[in-house]
Amino acid sequence: MQFSDFGLDSALMSTIEHMGFNEPTQIQQQAIPAAMAGHDLIASSKTGSGKTLAFIIPALQRLSKNRALSKRDPRVVILTPTRELAKQVFSQLRLFTANTQYKAVLILGGENFNDQVKVLQKEPEFIVATPGRLADHLTQGHFHLNGLELLILDEADRMLDLGFSKELTQINKAADHRKRQTLLFSATLDHAQVNEFATELLTKPKRIAINAGH
Ligand code: ADP
Ligand code: MG
Repeated sequence: MQFSDFGLDSALMSTIEHMGFNEPTQIQQQAIPAAMAGHDLIASSKTGSGKTLAFIIPALQRLSKNRALSKRDPRVVILTPTRELAKQVFSQLRLFTANTQYKAVLILGGENFNDQVKVLQKEPEFIVATPGRLADHLTQGHFHLNGLELLILDEADRMLDLGFSKELTQINKAADHRKRQTLLFSATLDHAQVNEFATELLTKPKRIAINAGH
């Protein structure tokens, strides 16, 4: 199987080609078409198996196909457990958004709060964030999630282990509307709190578990 088999938008395909990737990894082979079909996902595969592109690609594809629900609100929010992971996801996302009209911003704990308020006022389509700081901005009304189309939880098991369940619930409730799709990624699906959360946040999710990695 090749990336060209997914029927992706041509700008998206050319970025993938520039990255030098032809063949999707196993998790990408399963998660990309399922997400493109509109399903919520609860997906797992080991570290290094390509989960980042497994959610970035369907997110960009969805934006290229659908009209925005709101001109002001973010369309895609990607939450990760740590600053380092958020930076890694953001750098991959930027490869795709750099030559487009889409704005992507990074909102991390430990950084200047007022600078982030200004960044949020630019009305980005994409927010990559750690949950605590994003929840603070949400509480203070610096952005809204009424137009959110896609909520992505990267390393959900670690976010829950780090105690972010309250913030995840808050963000979920603020973005609670019919049209939202939710993609949950985890290193393991054998995690009771992840499964409880999946019940709370996802609608009829497809479960994808790749045990061998690539
Ligand atoms: P995970 O989140 O599952 O730990 P990453 O998304 O960080 O994995 O990807 C690990 C590495 O694999 C990255 O360097 C990424 O660029 C690379 N990669 C992703 N998809 C592919 C692919 N289809 N072919 C080759 N390398 C890939
Ligand atoms: Mg990852």
